[in-house]
Amino acid sequence: MARRLAALALPLVFLLCACAGPAAPAVSAPPATTQAPPATTAPTSETPPATTTATTEAPPTTTSAPPTTTTTGPPAIPVIEQRENGAWYIGNTVIVNKTYGLPPGWADGEDPAALAALDQMIAAAGADGIRLFVVGGGGFRSDEKQTTLYNNYVARSGRAAADTYSARPGHSEHQTGLAFDLNHAASSFEGTPAALWIEAHCAQYGFIVRFPKGKEAFTGFIYEPWHVRYVGQPLAAALTESGLCLEEYYGLTSEYQE
Ligand SMILES: [Zn+2]
Repeated sequence: MARRLAALALPLVFLLCACAGPAAPAVSAPPATTQAPPATTAPTSETPPATTTATTEAPPTTTSAPPTTTTTGPPAIPVIEQRENGAWYIGNTVIVNKTYGLPPGWADGEDPAALAALDQMIAAAGADGIRLFVVGGGGFRSDEKQTTLYNNYVARSGRAAADTYSARPGHSEHQTGLAFDLNHAASSFEGTPAALWIEAHCAQYGFIVRFPKGKEAFTGFIYEPWHVRYVGQPLAAALTESGLCLEEYYGLTSEYQE
């Protein structure tokens, strides 16, 4: 499908991202009510979070001595919340999907930490003989750019269809400056050495393949092996080890309120 879309939209093919899942999200819940599994900062998180825990569980313990003395306290149970800047967060992780949008002008460029991690990842890939590069003119998209992109798709195929492959303005991770499209934003990228390298190694640099294969019903977007999102190493490792996408891991929906 994406290949066909790419053929239809050659000039914009590299912008086609945060696009679209044919399947509707499986769960629906209003914002700010989700219970979530613990997003620990432990270096090796072995806790595969449950997706639909009805009742929250107590934090592991408060009596055993923590391994470090500099932490501020036991890990809080993460709950999604809207900050004063208008964006939605779980801990320090900004959440952007079809349910949770960004206010206009939330970011004005690529996140420095994400860029630094990206540079390290590109260098490591290069050492393995894999050339990674950013497409789409950079990872960041302004509100204007996303609006233009989305409106072009709406004009071409109607809103309903556009919503299946292009994020509405305010709902693209590219507007955070934390996401990048690598090498080739099309389904034919799947299975290439570069795609396999990204899948195997990106978590070491704090990235996740944000829209994994088989998770379309949760993310609301098609499998995008080229789209990586910076979340930092602990969470990236936990997500990767869990085998869950971000929505599953935190029990979030991804669907427009309409
Ligand atoms: Zn993308």
